[in-house]
Amino acid sequence: MVSKRASKFTSFIVMDVMAKAEDLERKGEHVIHLEVGEPDFSTPKVITKAANEALSLNKTRYTHALGLLELRQAICDFYFKEYRVNITPDQVMVSTGTSPALLFAMLAILDHGDEVIISNPRYPCYQNFILAAGGKIKEVKTYPEDGFQYRPKDIKKKLSLRTKAILINSPSNPTGIVMNKEHLQNIAEFDKQYIISDEIYHGLIYKGRAHSILEFTDNAFVINGFSKLYAMTGWRLGYCIFPKEFTAIMQRIHQNFMISANGFIQWAGIAALTRAQNDVADMISIYNERRQYMLARLKDMGFVIHVEPTGAFYVFADARRFCTDSYKEAFRIIEDVKVGVTPGIDFGSGGEGFLRFSYANSLENIKEGLNRLERYLNKYA
Ligand code: PMP
Repeated sequence: MVSKRASKFTSFIVMDVMAKAEDLERKGEHVIHLEVGEPDFSTPKVITKAANEALSLNKTRYTHALGLLELRQAICDFYFKEYRVNITPDQVMVSTGTSPALLFAMLAILDHGDEVIISNPRYPCYQNFILAAGGKIKEVKTYPEDGFQYRPKDIKKKLSLRTKAILINSPSNPTGIVMNKEHLQNIAEFDKQYIISDEIYHGLIYKGRAHSILEFTDNAFVINGFSKLYAMTGWRLGYCIFPKEFTAIMQRIHQNFMISANGFIQWAGIAALTRAQNDVADMISIYNERRQYMLARLKDMGFVIHVEPTGAFYVFADARRFCTDSYKEAFRIIEDVKVGVTPGIDFGSGGEGFLRFSYANSLENIKEGLNRLERYLNKYA
């Protein structure tokens, strides 16, 4: 029998949309994918070259449980260069993606029944990492007019003696909103809790700059990785930065559950951090062009964009004028005009009536997808 704990894990609703898309594609339909949160770019050549070189030098063994020292040092240098924060390699654990890094951070800090604050809406996996580690979720409602960012006073109301951590994500999935300095500072003032900061979309910024939570507190776990900024989703490489007193336990956790991250891929990670700046700049300027196009078209069609998204590659559009059930609406859209979109309900009850559009697709496909959506709306809305 499935355990009670496992039976509570929720599934990604967007997967249902993707399964439907696959179904249609098998029947010969041309589906435009605006639901997928994955870069459409190939991994930059400097990175694949570094992996090939590592393979040809037989770098095919386990590494240190926390990761190659060279990569951990490169991560420290990167955080210093970007945010002027001083961290040392004993505060870094490299894993096979940010996903396991987040799970291991939860295992390191949560006792059975401890609570973690998450926003509603938020990235759908978060609750499952917390449940897997025996924790409980405490949802804080957020509002469209704030770009679905936390109101610190609402966090305060949800705190209890069991609250171990507050989870933040900026730039955010699904909203694309970037938290500013003052806001991060306010969150960092909750100093009895750890702040778990998912910084996986850092670097994908189209206005201003992103700040790391580490600029404001040391009492934080930063989760970051290579999937998004370097178009490396399938490589599986990410990391966690943690307070110094967690070195021994993070090492023990990783030793036991993963042994180490993939050896030759960690060498590619060093190339990404140190030699892919030009490729990243090119991708960012292309994403930005798509972002501006998508925002203009969606507004034109009557979607409401409460706060301009300036990071990641998502637009979380308010469709409440013509949609009360985002799940049904997403299915009607894909069946009718063959465009995949993610229903807002995937991100929690607070996302109902919203649709998430991803611009990790070519401008040509985005144009075609939005033309089709416009036809759909003209017909039904
Ligand atoms: N956090 C957020 C907010 C994400 O959107 C994703 C990927 N969809 C992840 C974490 C996981 O990324 P990965 O495991 O590929 O590093």
